[in-house]
Amino acid sequence: MNERPVIVWLRRDLRLADNPALHAAARTGAPVIPLYVFDEAEAFAPGAAAKWRLHYSLDALSAALRRAGARLTLRRGRGPAIVRALAAETEAAAVFWNRRYAPAHVEADKTLKTDLVRAGLEVRTFNAGLLREPWEIKTKNGGPFRVYTPFWKALRAAGPARAEPLPAPKALRPPADPPHSDDLDDWRLLPRDPDWAARFADIWRPGEAGAQAALARFLDGPAGRYAAERDRPDRDATSRLSHHLAFGEIGPLQVWRAIEARAAAGDVKAASAEKFLSELAWREFSCHLLFHNPALSEAPLRKEFVGFPWRDDPAGFKAWRRGRTGYPIVDAGMRELWRTGWMHNRVRMIAASFLVKDLLIDWRRGAAWFWDTLIDADPANNSASWQWVAGCGADAAPYFRIFNPVAQGEKFDPQGDYVRRFVPELAKMPPEHIHAPWRAPPDVLDKAGVVLGKSYPEPILDHAAARKRALAAYERTRRDA
Ligand code: FAD
Repeated sequence: MNERPVIVWLRRDLRLADNPALHAAARTGAPVIPLYVFDEAEAFAPGAAAKWRLHYSLDALSAALRRAGARLTLRRGRGPAIVRALAAETEAAAVFWNRRYAPAHVEADKTLKTDLVRAGLEVRTFNAGLLREPWEIKTKNGGPFRVYTPFWKALRAAGPARAEPLPAPKALRPPADPPHSDDLDDWRLLPRDPDWAARFADIWRPGEAGAQAALARFLDGPAGRYAAERDRPDRDATSRLSHHLAFGEIGPLQVWRAIEARAAAGDVKAASAEKFLSELAWREFSCHLLFHNPALSEAPLRKEFVGFPWRDDPAGFKAWRRGRTGYPIVDAGMRELWRTGWMHNRVRMIAASFLVKDLLIDWRRGAAWFWDTLIDADPANNSASWQWVAGCGADAAPYFRIFNPVAQGEKFDPQGDYVRRFVPELAKMPPEHIHAPWRAPPDVLDKAGVVLGKSYPEPILDHAAARKRALAAYERTRRDA
């Protein structure tokens, strides 16, 4: 039996089931060293909320690996350097990993692979994170897609690359002399003084078991109403799997096959299942865009936006971040983000649109704030979605389609329940006035105990005027481009 160990370098694939790299390592029969490197200098290093998330994800992973017989090795520093050093230290025969798709990660992994192979190690890489990798789905001309709908059609026709999810390895052999591991607590991933994430643990259950529970909860309840209600932030109608998918505590193939099975059994309506699969495909499409457009997180894909006259508005940016714009649906979203580390998709679109179109603040500043505060922060989804909202992405909402925050609130939160949950100052406002309190008659405000400018802000801008300003800025940019 081969005594030289196999290192499995885990990144955003923090699970045992349907983990092809771990599965393959177990099958070699050699001792397995699962490794996680905390690399704060790498591209897309986790923001503050994701660090909270990472701590508990690693904690859960470590316990699950221990039950299977292995010990998670934790190291801190530059990923590739640590892998090379650990391989030398343990005289490893091989290093396996699941592939990543952000161009900076692809480059780093390629170089590492070359170095390791040159040093005589076997390197095997796998797909754990996508239904189809970015080079597998091609246009008729063999190029990458830039528009979602044909991408989705191509992905739907191709189907997932693997037929069924892999089981978790039953037993993993540890090396006789396990390498030193950092203590997770020493990484200080959890916030202190103040502990702004104190309530996160009541809402989320990080880890693979938590991901499976979230999937089961979704399939037993919200999945059936997904097509009809997924745009309603006041309803519980989506899966809330994004943070589990972002950390790889569950893979898209597991989710895909589970919903298909429920639809086939008649438990979930076909229309809802199909809509849900098409949303999972947005995740695939975002990754496809990031892989084929290395600057996705930094530069607009539409060149005419390069010189766009973004405003520097510190007061406006602060009001947006704190949920004090005076537009209740925007404020509810931004406070949901701060309080829970997550925000409903419809409200992400409304809040992002308010930043880039009403306030004319650069989408990259919004994306950076989301990156720091979202527990599901994902390099591809965050960058692609912000470009989509800003209108500068490959397949984006046209710039002139500007979300009206009052109309959006009235349509998608008709009773105002979502706003009431996150903006308690407005808890007593009646539904017909909750989305535009400044238009409410004085006696209605009085009765609800709302004093505009005191208990709740006056709107920081006039949406109609801001809309005109945005359209004029866009026209100028187009003319000058
Ligand atoms: P469900 O509706 O249950 O969808 C299932 C899964 O499909 C999601 O978990 C997610 O992985 C994927 N998905 C659904 N909608 C989208 C979408 N529009 N784009 C890409 N993938 C999608 N999602 C992230 O995972 N990380 C991010 O950093 C992120 N940033 C965003 C920023 C902005 C400005 C916007 C508008 C959207 C962003 N999204 C991001 C996409 C989307 O809002 C979330 O994936 C979704 O709200 C997660 O909730 P859910 O798991 O209940 O989704």
